[in-house]
Amino acid sequence: MDPSSLIKSLSLNQHYWSITAVITQIDAVRVFKSGQGKIQKLTLMDKEGSKIFAIMFNETIDRFHNILEIGKTYVISNGQIKATNKDFYNVNENFEIILNNISEIQLAIADNIEPVRKNLSVIEDIKENPNSPSDIILLVLNVSEVRMIYRHTDKKKIFKRDLQVFDLRSEVCTFTLWEALATVEGKQLEESKNEKTIILAKDVIGKNFNGFILSTIQSTTLEINPNLPSSKELLDLSNINVHQHTSSTFDTCLMTNLQNINISEHSLGEVKYYSTRVVIKGLNEEGNIWYNSCNTCKSKVFIIDDIAKCPKCSNDNAEYSLRYLMKLRVEDNSSTAIFTVFDNEVEQIIGMPVIKLEKIKASNIEDYNNIIRNICDKELIFSVKAQDKQYGNRTFRSITVQSIKENCDQVNEIEPKRIKLEEL
Ligand SMILES: [Zn+2]
Repeated sequence: MDPSSLIKSLSLNQHYWSITAVITQIDAVRVFKSGQGKIQKLTLMDKEGSKIFAIMFNETIDRFHNILEIGKTYVISNGQIKATNKDFYNVNENFEIILNNISEIQLAIADNIEPVRKNLSVIEDIKENPNSPSDIILLVLNVSEVRMIYRHTDKKKIFKRDLQVFDLRSEVCTFTLWEALATVEGKQLEESKNEKTIILAKDVIGKNFNGFILSTIQSTTLEINPNLPSSKELLDLSNINVHQHTSSTFDTCLMTNLQNINISEHSLGEVKYYSTRVVIKGLNEEGNIWYNSCNTCKSKVFIIDDIAKCPKCSNDNAEYSLRYLMKLRVEDNSSTAIFTVFDNEVEQIIGMPVIKLEKIKASNIEDYNNIIRNICDKELIFSVKAQDKQYGNRTFRSITVQSIKENCDQVNEIEPKRIKLEEL
């Protein structure tokens, strides 16, 4: 190979040059905020393993669109050689290439450079070495909405989006995408939310923020559904570990304590999922733990002269039935909280359908009180959804139970009581 075809042979402001390099990464095309113009970045690597970014704008992107492929080697010539901006991460400490109307890209016939892949890490590796950018392959379990948050350090508004991800060791973790990765790739992930999507994330770091999370940095790239042996491995693993829990969110959220659930940072409206092991201390309010629920939308109906009106469906003669709705006081050794629990989960805790409990309460209040007393001091694992809601000018964190851990010893303790109760 001609020595001039190495990346290190490039010099500042040179316009006519030629390098032979493999494309190791093609970033998504990004459209400028103004809507005027677009930009795309390639990562090139030569046979010595030196890397450089090649940046294309507008027509240049269209001109080369059809010929560029990750893993193929090209002879790339001409364009602007620019000094790097030291404020941003760059694969090359001196230069980057701006491909323009004098640039040429051709498949290299003779030379093929093997793109060396960094070994893939697992979450555990990144925990041990959080600050060193790592490559990791992940299955996406859940995609939250994109949020705009205010960053105090530089008073900037930035985009963020949280994913729940699962790695090759079946470990689950939150992965925060920032800025364009949250809006562009994040949106793609949101659209394929119901499919099993694999991502290859390169240059990811770890952070400790209310527990360990993965986070993107300036140089992070995401490849969606990469064709790698690990993708299949991850899918097979997820079939074993995740599929059987599709109806619950247990394996898609981290175990944490009440203190973390109460204080973790949420932007208004943002939904976060957690699992937590807590002790039931009792009901939070007097009154019935059920309501007349519209059969269509499950909202509360108002019964006037035996006719049920559902304000949500605007139905003046709605069919309805009783559904459980309970506010539970819970605690662990870190804090206390109020959990809102709906029908199926209340039935799971109490061990009988609402109609039966209503009859018991109507006929013998002491029996009813015993049943309620029996649920206290139970330790259970709850999967919950937490969201901040505005109530007048006050914000409070609403925590709603999504599911209750099955097959755990503590849940099994309920079983004998259920049998006893049904004999009543
Ligand atoms: Zn309704």
